[in-house]
Amino acid sequence: MDEICLKAYAKINLTLDVVGRRADGYHLLQSVMQSIALCDLVKIRKGNGLRLAVDHPGVPADVHNTAWRAAELFLKRIGIQGGVEIDIDKQIPVAAGLGGGSADAAAVLVGLDRLYGTGLTPEELGDMAVAVGADVPFCLQGGTQLAEGIGEQLTPLPPVPGGWLVLVKPPVEVSTAQVYQKLKPGTFGTGSSQAFIDALVQGAPWARLAEKLGNVLESVTEELLPEVRLWKGRLLDGGALGTIMSGSGPTVVGIFPTLSEAQHFQGRWQGQAGIILTQPVGQGIGEANGGDR
Ligand code: ATP
Repeated sequence: MDEICLKAYAKINLTLDVVGRRADGYHLLQSVMQSIALCDLVKIRKGNGLRLAVDHPGVPADVHNTAWRAAELFLKRIGIQGGVEIDIDKQIPVAAGLGGGSADAAAVLVGLDRLYGTGLTPEELGDMAVAVGADVPFCLQGGTQLAEGIGEQLTPLPPVPGGWLVLVKPPVEVSTAQVYQKLKPGTFGTGSSQAFIDALVQGAPWARLAEKLGNVLESVTEELLPEVRLWKGRLLDGGALGTIMSGSGPTVVGIFPTLSEAQHFQGRWQGQAGIILTQPVGQGIGEANGGDR
């Protein structure tokens, strides 16, 4: 096999609590993370040297790209002389709190392991993943997971119930670093994560899980970007069972019980923001020609 094409699934945070801060400045989190069907397509080919092409003007195609860094690390650690050519078809909105860069890096690690038949253990891949970025280990595992530490300590959770997710990406940007800087230590502590997990383990439907959604960064981003609150209100008015901002934003997620209500919302508001209909999936990386599980 000389070429492989993988789906790199985006993630959303269903809960996000900040529980402390490490001496090096990294925040310690507790977050229920969920893979979603929205994905980038990552094509990887054996080649000479390292070459990367990305069909998005806002994304660097060099060492600043997470996929590049993942490939460089893999080739060096495994001692592979040959090179690799990577093509990324970006579908995941960039800098949106949806983990697109982390997903691409995870796909590169999985793809190279398969292409070169290295047969690395999940632990070995996980070690490389966290060296590229805090959310990359989640993207390798995927599904529904509790992420702790800086995001690298993962505990699998039962899958969430079926339902439709409406992602609203307002046409504004927010700096993740700025959001964390503005977070007051008084808001540190366990909040929604454990309550969400308890309800999930009991098999609660979305109507009950939706009450437990919570992201401590939401109030900070809302202060910087009033669009976040505005879209949460519109989603609830449109029939969402609950809403949550993903990561540091600005994407807001609404949980809808039926496809027709989700489509109705999309039809009403498309054009004023990027509106994407998607569903939870049970994995982080998928086959490009296979269905979503
Ligand atoms: P974070 O919360 O880590 O900031 P995010 O999910 O909000 O992540 P990403 O789409 O992963 O956002 O990208 C954040 C920044 O990283 C972008 O502005 C882009 O310049 C850079 N970047 C590097 N590699 C990639 C990649 N493969 N895909 C998208 N962006 C990338």
